[in-house]
Amino acid sequence: MSSQQEFKQRDRLPARPAIAHAPTQVLFANAHPSMSHVSADFIPVFGECIRMTREVLFSKDAQPFLIAGSGTLGWDQVSANLVEPGENVLVLHSGYFGDSFAECRPVKAPIGAAVTQEEIEKALKAKKYKVLTFTHVDTSTGVLSDAKAIGETVKRVSPDTLVVLDGVCAVASEEIRMDDWGIDVVLTASQKGLGTPPGLSILVASQKAIKVTDARCTRLTTIADPASPRPRWLPVMNAYEKGSPAYFATPPVNLIYAFHASLSTITRGSVSLEERFAAHRKASARMKEAVTAMGLKQLPLDPAFAANGMTAVYYPEGFGAANTLAPLAQKGIVAAGGLHKDIKDTYFRIGHMGITVVDPSRGDMDHVIDSLKAVFGKQ
Ligand SMILES: *Cc1c(COP(=O)(O)O)cnc(C)c1O
Repeated sequence: MSSQQEFKQRDRLPARPAIAHAPTQVLFANAHPSMSHVSADFIPVFGECIRMTREVLFSKDAQPFLIAGSGTLGWDQVSANLVEPGENVLVLHSGYFGDSFAECRPVKAPIGAAVTQEEIEKALKAKKYKVLTFTHVDTSTGVLSDAKAIGETVKRVSPDTLVVLDGVCAVASEEIRMDDWGIDVVLTASQKGLGTPPGLSILVASQKAIKVTDARCTRLTTIADPASPRPRWLPVMNAYEKGSPAYFATPPVNLIYAFHASLSTITRGSVSLEERFAAHRKASARMKEAVTAMGLKQLPLDPAFAANGMTAVYYPEGFGAANTLAPLAQKGIVAAGGLHKDIKDTYFRIGHMGITVVDPSRGDMDHVIDSLKAVFGKQ
């Protein structure tokens, strides 16, 4: 079997929420010879990744930081660069991923719901918060937060508070308009909606957030230098975008090639960004109708709070992980078990993001729905 055919074979596995799989051209780009990070071949590739990342978030001037690491590294960057000891952070909690900042003050929603605008307003009026964080799509529950409304509430009630969006699951499967909605930081990773192998931490900061970093006295980690007022990563990103190399630490060169291939499809492909988000909404509605028709109950309490890149469903009577996930795996479908610690064994999750929905000729959605029917004896 040629390597191209091997890639194609594996490429047929439908997505699961933890890692959405990468299209063939992305895997090939990942296999690019490992160039020097200062080579003429690599510099424009990195520069274009920075520009295209900004485009995916509809921003004119926010600053992307593409750094080796997982999505979780974004949290360290936020706490090290934007929050000083003693400052308050308001964490909106809609599931497992709200725990990332658990030592801060959480406002918790019941399982299956997002925190309401009234609760956010009340919290912001009670105390001054430097930063508000929320998970756009909580991958543990499939709950979607209303990013636009949160941005508007903060702007109206506490305009100095920086709005930080955890978009690890959401970016490229949900619409995010950083500038229009007043989102100051989006942190994400390569492996979910962005359809690239894992290993790239992607943090995008508004100019307002960058100014806060500049004004800090305790500079602890990646964006800034601990020993001097000199920022570390910012000049590196700026240099590559302008077409020349700079060094602070070696970038994950191959992943940048892979990310470039994926971003090129997302921003310059035959499907526009708007069409891409519409395709996710349509596929999601179809999956949610199908599971409802099978008599299954979803985790999100209200369809308005349901993510478009995944569906979280309770097992029907008599079913659990063992007699659901294994038979699905036999049909080539990698669904994920539950993750929210209180109800982990009662539900499972189906990912439908990236090429699974943008390229209907693959037939992934039909195959997943037919397989669920077969496993639950509904046909
Ligand atoms: C997956 C995920 C993370 C963690 O990302 P890693 O790359 O595993 O560190 C954080 N937040 C959300 C919403 C996620 O889905």
